Amino acid sequence: NLPVLAVVGRPNVGKSTLVNRILGRREAVVEDVPGVTRDRVFYAAEWAGTDFWLVDTGGWEDKVQGIAYRVAEQAEVAIELADAVLFVVDATVGITTTDEQLLKVLRRSDRPVILAANKVDDERGELEAAALWNLGLGEPHPVSAIHGRGSGDLLDAVLAAL
Ligand code: GDP
Ligand code: MG
Repeated sequence: NLPVLAVVGRPNVGKSTLVNRILGRREAVVEDVPGVTRDRVFYAAEWAGTDFWLVDTGGWEDKVQGIAYRVAEQAEVAIELADAVLFVVDATVGITTTDEQLLKVLRRSDRPVILAANKVDDERGELEAAALWNLGLGEPHPVSAIHGRGSGDLLDAVLAAL
């Protein structure tokens, strides 16, 4: 019974890229077109000697109900089965209305939340990441899923929450 970490966030923030970074291999489907990942995919992950399940979420391209609703709904299911939640936002974009929908779901849950401020590819992005303290989710962890910048510190925070 390994602990489960759910990776949630709106489409295109880099969840699958971050999952691949954590796995150290390319398994999660990364796409420039949002909504490619199936609803929930489990991966066996390990960091600093701790094994855990990593759940990538996505696949919420839905023209009928609207994207914010689908993201919130999917997050609810993922959070339900998780011991901790990795909330990924795009630090270069900041908080959108879809992120805010997700925030409501996260606040309702009693799971620990680790905030990843992704796409901080260089130190210039640190300021945008620091602005995310406003969310009230604790320390925003700046990370570049593509380059690996900050991923070790992020994973240390994840393990502390699991
Ligand atoms: P998901 O929809 O949240 O799973 O996002 P993906 O992992 O599929 O990534 C969406 C897009 O963002 C792709 O074009 C990625 O290459 C890009 N991306 C992901 N992480 C980073 C990052 O750290 N820096 C930059 N510059 N782009 C990123
Ligand atoms: Mg994805």
